[in-house]
Amino acid sequence: MKLPESPHLRLFLRRLALGTGLAVFFTWLALRQPQGDDGRLVQEEFLAMGTIVSISLYLDTDQDRDAALDALDDARHDLETYAQRWSAWGDGALGRINRQLDAGERVEIPAELQPLFDAAARLGTASGGLFDVRVGRLVELWGFDDEAHYRSAPPDEAAIEAAVTDLAGAPPLLAGAAEYGPATGARFDFGAIAKGEATDRIVETLREAGYPNVIVNAGGNLRAAGRRGGRAWRIGVRHPRPGAQQRVLATLDIDGDEAVITSGDYERYFEADGERYHHLLDPRSGMPARGLQAVTVVAPSGALADAASTAIFVAGPGQWRDTARTLGVDQVFVVDAQGRIEVTAALARRIDFAEGSATITVP
Ligand code: ADP
Ligand code: MG
Repeated sequence: MKLPESPHLRLFLRRLALGTGLAVFFTWLALRQPQGDDGRLVQEEFLAMGTIVSISLYLDTDQDRDAALDALDDARHDLETYAQRWSAWGDGALGRINRQLDAGERVEIPAELQPLFDAAARLGTASGGLFDVRVGRLVELWGFDDEAHYRSAPPDEAAIEAAVTDLAGAPPLLAGAAEYGPATGARFDFGAIAKGEATDRIVETLREAGYPNVIVNAGGNLRAAGRRGGRAWRIGVRHPRPGAQQRVLATLDIDGDEAVITSGDYERYFEADGERYHHLLDPRSGMPARGLQAVTVVAPSGALADAASTAIFVAGPGQWRDTARTLGVDQVFVVDAQGRIEVTAALARRIDFAEGSATITVP
């Protein structure tokens, strides 16, 4: 390029070019070295299982970024497969089972679904029925099966009562069973365990592929393994009623192999006459469980933490500790209707709550 005659203009253009060049260079650096990780952090974010999923890998110095991106693509594909197979309403294996139940047939549980059914059965029993994957009819009645079905008012009391009676009359789901039903009162919905189970499997697959340092975040359901280079993975738990100042309620470090999973009344809900009706249903009453805003569970497996967070939420303020105990989880915190936090001693030792949070530590 031929520079203009004026020395001032020439200097200005040179500086502009240099400035732009530097800006591009630093942006490039920032992209290459996300948050000071020397380019060893590889991330992918996409939509799956009805939520935003992000997966991060922390690479060894000799690991190739492009190969890591390919591994993340495979993980995304696996998640899409799980979502399709485990959807209660779609055309996959579980959707098919549900349509057979609707038709009054006895169903065979396919081998590919057996591990998930067994985990759900065991956790259902351990929770005293508060976590119950047979709740599909109630979920549908409340319109939480699909955002397009959200209601503007709760269903008829009589309809809720009938659905509760039908569910109570349906056969229990037993671990190891290869068949179920007939039971028109039951419809399987794995919404409270699927994301946890899926994140467990993704971490396992990535580990086998040579990536031991992983974190998967499926809409706030986190599963981590290994570490982020010289430090632990740092995790933030969302505030159930975020304000301008307080978006993150708590932070904790995960060093090793753990899940941090939250169930809250803010994820799927509608309001009618000033009441909030949310998607965490008490199978005994057929109503959204009352008394808590959120429950966070830290546990070694995503499936366990996911099912437990739902069961503990349904148990409510008086019973949550008993339910946590029978499920074998000791790192839990709950936020009650007034925004007060109760945290177990085992979790209190390692979690930091946002300044000004009212917390009570319980055994
Ligand atoms: P999220 O999926 O929003 O993270 P949960 O893991 O707590 O929250 O799962 C809630 C979903 O589980 C609901 O949308 C519904 O499909 C299903 N569900 C609701 N109540 C129960 C229950 N008592 N037991 C098992 N599943 C439930
Ligand atoms: Mg759950």
